[in-house]
Amino acid sequence: MFQGLTFEPFSLPEEAEAIRGEIRQFLADTLDPNELPNSDFNAGDNAAFSKKLGEAGFLGMTWPEEYGGGGKSFLERYVVTEEILAAGAPVGCHWIADRQSGPLMLKFGTEEQRQHFLPKIISGDYFFSIGMSEPDTGSDLASIRTSATKVDGGWLLNGSKIWTSYAHTNHFMVTLVRTEPPSENRHAGMSQFVVDLHAEGVKVTGIRNLSNEEDFNQVFFDDVFIPDNMVVGEPGNGWEQVISELGYERSGPERFLSAFRVIVEYAREIEGNPTDEQLALLGRLAAHLVTLRRMSISVAGMLEGGKLPITEAALIKDLGNTYERMVPELVRLASIEKPSRRFIDTLNECVLHAPSFTLRGGTREILKGVIARGLGLR
Ligand SMILES: Cc1cc2nc3c(=O)[nH]c(=O)nc-3n(C[C@H](O)[C@H](O)[C@H](O)COP(=O)(O)OP(=O)(O)OC[C@H]3O[C@@H](n4cnc5c(N)ncnc54)[C@H](O)[C@@H]3O)c2cc1C
Repeated sequence: MFQGLTFEPFSLPEEAEAIRGEIRQFLADTLDPNELPNSDFNAGDNAAFSKKLGEAGFLGMTWPEEYGGGGKSFLERYVVTEEILAAGAPVGCHWIADRQSGPLMLKFGTEEQRQHFLPKIISGDYFFSIGMSEPDTGSDLASIRTSATKVDGGWLLNGSKIWTSYAHTNHFMVTLVRTEPPSENRHAGMSQFVVDLHAEGVKVTGIRNLSNEEDFNQVFFDDVFIPDNMVVGEPGNGWEQVISELGYERSGPERFLSAFRVIVEYAREIEGNPTDEQLALLGRLAAHLVTLRRMSISVAGMLEGGKLPITEAALIKDLGNTYERMVPELVRLASIEKPSRRFIDTLNECVLHAPSFTLRGGTREILKGVIARGLGLR
């Protein structure tokens, strides 16, 4: 039966808006205005910046105070995320730990893991990677082959993960593995381990991307010993954890703001004497952005209210990623006389990163499947 979509009207509350001034001030004080900002949130890492962000109280913002967290609402975090992305700040080091690994431990991890890892994520000392994709497994995660066998006091891990962002600079990777052979229930028998990326038997090999950088990797495990206390929660609970993690990934501002710096530089470039065509493009990009933002804020409001708008979140990622890919393409085709070096560099970087926008975190086809299922169409 066809089921509708719900985007309840929602505005960010005053206390969330109040934090906007604080994070803007922090970014103005911390970022060098002469440096080229990131035109993709996944493209810049700077450990010193992440540490400063943690010291200023902008990491682990929503986590309980007993682990060093800020005890703030998700809506306050939403505003901080928007501002960080809009400024093109280098977030690569802490991004996964703050958005995904920490919340995963809060929800599923052991008390020992929370006490050990959360304060160090907040202080910017521990950075995490995601170890889900494998050379023959991306969208269909249930077919992973990396596996672990039980030994005294822990597990022996063998196999390989791929496209692992920042595994070469991060400290740990939350890794999805088979701890039981595949059975009729494809989602059973998987677990997640916290793997120390510097442990014996772990090898990290960089993969060059289109922009000639190596920000993702292939990671190999050769009889890596994982102590029992590094299993996230209970063995066998891996699938439930992964599905919950993907929920954190899908509806935030990073799903439509990746190309925002291109819009800013474009607006600067045409300032003063724009043609009607140039202005129309700016208006089109802005109107589209405002609509996506309202949808995303609506989902944030529903999440804060304890609802689980999975279909709406998948729709935002699909529409948001399509927009992000369109921005550099349309701006590239806008005729600008004598473009500045800054504009050219920002646009070039975004053009080279844009193909990844619709792949990471779930491809468009997979999202359309989720949306169709949510609407009762399949
Ligand atoms: C920049 C970047 C960073 C990444 N970082 C990480 C990371 O840190 N950790 C990590 O684990 N992974 C990471 N990934 C991997 C990413 O999650 C996968 O690329 C993605 O899930 C797709 O998997 P795949 O590449 O194996 O493609 P496949 O699953 O092989 O898909 C190939 C094509 O087939 C289509 N397809 C597949 N199944 C279906 C279906 N059932 N119906 C319709 N169409 C289908 C897909 O849409 C796609 O177009 C990253 C990817 C990128 C681009």
